[in-house]
Amino acid sequence: MVIGDLMDEDIKKRWWIFPGFKIETMVTGLDLPVNIAFVPKPTDNPDAPLLYVTELYGNIKAITNDWNVHTYAENLLNYEPNYEFPGTGESGVTGICVEPGTGDLFVSMIYEDEGNIKNKLVRTKSKNGLKMDSIETIIEDIPSIKAAHQIQAVSVGFDGKLYVNLGEGMINPEVAQDDTELRGKVLRMDLDGNIPEDNPDPKSPIYAKGFRNPFGAVWRESDKSLYISDNGPAYDDRVAKVEPGKNYGWPESMRKNSLFWTHLSQGITALDFMQNEEFPFEYDNELFVAFFGGAYVKGPGVKGKMIVKMKVNKDTSGVNSFDVFVRYTGENAASPCGIAFGPGGLYFTDLHGEGNGQTHTPSGNLFKVSSIIKAEGEILVPYTKENTDRCLCPGCPTRNECMGNRNERLFCAGGKTDCDPEKKGCLCGECPVQGEYGLVDFYYCAEGAAKK
Ligand code: SF4
Ligand code: SF4
Repeated sequence: MVIGDLMDEDIKKRWWIFPGFKIETMVTGLDLPVNIAFVPKPTDNPDAPLLYVTELYGNIKAITNDWNVHTYAENLLNYEPNYEFPGTGESGVTGICVEPGTGDLFVSMIYEDEGNIKNKLVRTKSKNGLKMDSIETIIEDIPSIKAAHQIQAVSVGFDGKLYVNLGEGMINPEVAQDDTELRGKVLRMDLDGNIPEDNPDPKSPIYAKGFRNPFGAVWRESDKSLYISDNGPAYDDRVAKVEPGKNYGWPESMRKNSLFWTHLSQGITALDFMQNEEFPFEYDNELFVAFFGGAYVKGPGVKGKMIVKMKVNKDTSGVNSFDVFVRYTGENAASPCGIAFGPGGLYFTDLHGEGNGQTHTPSGNLFKVSSIIKAEGEILVPYTKENTDRCLCPGCPTRNECMGNRNERLFCAGGKTDCDPEKKGCLCGECPVQGEYGLVDFYYCAEGAAKK
């Protein structure tokens, strides 16, 4: 599981990546890239759209299968944004999802109406998926402010309904408990904005209430449920499974009905489950969450600037493992913001792209994190749980403390380790995996995987 020789040395100096994974730069020069949304079933055509990126100050970029960047929409904001981070520069165009049936986009943003700032959700259409042809407002006229806590993630659920996260607007947090207000809620609507008859209240789009600034949303296939992230004040950023009619507590509590919360606020943003084999089986159904931190703070900072992974309990009562997965270690303003699993890995935006965090220059990045195991290609032995369980590496004299601490094994499939093993004997010759796949070599931990 060599990392160094497969990674761009320059990126490696600035981003720490979990053992067994590598990072690549896919796109640079984005203008404050916030969220990403992959096309659910992309075609093989190199000119067809693969994913979309919202840029905070009013643009949407379409990225094709060949990784060319197109301006899908621009100038979506009807006011002049500034660059105050933290503060009035933190708002604009944020949430995005692709409607699976049509390829249309749902996009959330704020707008100015006679001096007042409001939230709206729009639906855009495009013939080729690369340039917006029309835009239609689905909901609007919801009060907001020029700061965070605006309208956020938008998603289409397994039931074909539209789900929208709405921040409480910061100034009057008590609206999160007011059933006549849409702020501080998760809404559920038909795709045209009408209220479904089977909503908790058939006269209201409110699906759940009591949220503060619910930035991210993801649907988990294994329980067909919606999970969201929600920013706390100076404490208690949280992840919650959203269930119909439930109250999630804000402003009295950020812990009510939550799966997980932080002691110190980390600026929690987007999240996604590994649920389509983008990583090896050990990571199946793990939840990956971006902790944005203070991106305007240069260097690693003490908060956020990382992606963590966690395992949600089977009964979804909490979280029973937690690891840092990606962490910024450079010297400038950089931070993960939007994340989503896509072809072959986890993709994330870096909002400021290591600018200085105070001047407006389009330097945002889109990165991909992928497994070294998947990257080696032409592997003879499948990296499966069955083969891992049969592997004799854990009892081998060559396995050193570093390999043990990382629980590394199955090197014939996963490739060599970067733990510098000293050859003291190899058990591969006695291993049932060796026999089943007709392997003839030894010391895969030092020499690399068995190839076809
Ligand atoms: S590949 Fe061979 S030498 Fe390396 S840990 Fe496994 S059994 Fe030991
Ligand atoms: S052949 Fe070696 S590396 Fe492969 S499963 Fe067996 S002991 Fe592990």
